[in-house]
Amino acid sequence: MADSSLNKNSTNCPSSSSTTQKDGLSCGASISPVLVVEMSQTSSADSTEFLFPPDRKKEKNTSRDISGKDLPLGTSIIERKTSQQHWGRGNVTEGKVPHIRMANGAAIKEFYTFGRTLGQGSFGMVFEAKDKETETKWAIKKVNKEKAGSSAVKLLEREVNILKSVKHEHIIHLEQIFETPKKMYLVMELCEDGELKEILDRKRHFSENETRWIIQSLASAIAYLHNKDIVHRDLKLENIMVKSSFIDANNEMNLNIKVTDFGLAVQKHGRSEAMLQATCGTPIYMAPEVINAHDYSQQCDIWSIGVIMYILLCGGPPFLANSEEKLFELIRKGELHFEDPIWDSISDSAKCVLKQLLKVDPAHRITAKELLDNQWLTPTVYEKKSPVTSKKADTNDIDTCCSSSTSSKLLPAELKGEVEKSSVTPSQGVATKSTAKSTALFRSKKKP
Ligand code: ADP
Repeated sequence: MADSSLNKNSTNCPSSSSTTQKDGLSCGASISPVLVVEMSQTSSADSTEFLFPPDRKKEKNTSRDISGKDLPLGTSIIERKTSQQHWGRGNVTEGKVPHIRMANGAAIKEFYTFGRTLGQGSFGMVFEAKDKETETKWAIKKVNKEKAGSSAVKLLEREVNILKSVKHEHIIHLEQIFETPKKMYLVMELCEDGELKEILDRKRHFSENETRWIIQSLASAIAYLHNKDIVHRDLKLENIMVKSSFIDANNEMNLNIKVTDFGLAVQKHGRSEAMLQATCGTPIYMAPEVINAHDYSQQCDIWSIGVIMYILLCGGPPFLANSEEKLFELIRKGELHFEDPIWDSISDSAKCVLKQLLKVDPAHRITAKELLDNQWLTPTVYEKKSPVTSKKADTNDIDTCCSSSTSSKLLPAELKGEVEKSSVTPSQGVATKSTAKSTALFRSKKKP
């Protein structure tokens, strides 16, 4: 199983043009004591930056910035109630992510009561925090930009820019960003039930129904991203958070999942970047075409969904070896094994979906949209037509059911895009028999 501690080591980020959105981090030098709020609109690359006018209501007749420092004459504070009308919480300004720049981060404590530590990430700590006015609980990621270093800050910029542009029920919601010259605070939707991986570790594996519901949500999130030309590139259990859960009448767990960690995500822009070439991700979840550093498209995310689904059903990854070289060999072959007795109770339809997700050739791999339409994923249709069988899977049956495969997704060679290609080094992460490391890799080299 994957070791989540190793997952904290996100490595370099390429200078890829992942988004067109305005960089929220690069303006540190020009930060003035006056609060600046930048509103990013969902589905738009634009963001509006504005200074609040000097005639804005003042608190206790003093003119102070958000950090409590006196402001030059003629400037003013942002009064919380007024600002909230602009910033919007919840549905007030739907689809907009306020990016609030200020001189000093201490003022955040005026807005939020900080609570328990939720976790330590690659860039900083994540805390639970309660909005003093609305009493809503949030997760606030606090990042020290200086300590994190420039490559980590680039990954963070990437994450922020992508999160600003998306809105989906199964993608983590970024509520607002506070930024000082040194720090960045991401106010995110709180996932009270932690990481999906932790729940899996406790349960050992999920039932077929439980897995189906998780994969439904995941497929919906990824179809949404792919439709927006965004490729996540690091889908894995550790990057799926659970906002809430309940046990139903059949004693099955229903999870409300959220896809997180967009540090390695890219947004393709037009034809020239339709294909990607950087080798990145986490070894046990990596698609063959990514390992081979061939041109690849968003289909690499589909492979990772296949690995996730396999792990959810049986508790272990589909490809395991004691060296990275051997692991990659297995991935390139893509032979799936269902010999473990745990697979006896899994339907052929589920195995068929796995085979379609883990097709070595990305051209024949099912797409996110096709996955959403899949019979196994649609319980009502599925249950009526094809009840779950408990017989041991006959590989031929599964092959037959998977043979009516998908349309070709390979793009023509002239669509080759951004120039990052790499060779894989054995030192950067291996899945072993006992511990399948899940460190995110990013290895790239400029094309000559
Ligand atoms: P990383 O940098 O390794 O991707 P993060 O900084 O995103 O990790 O998060 C660190 C830890 O904080 C996570 O492992 C998780 O346990 C917790 N965490 C992150 N985001 C949230 C959230 N929105 N709700 C609850 N817990 C969270």
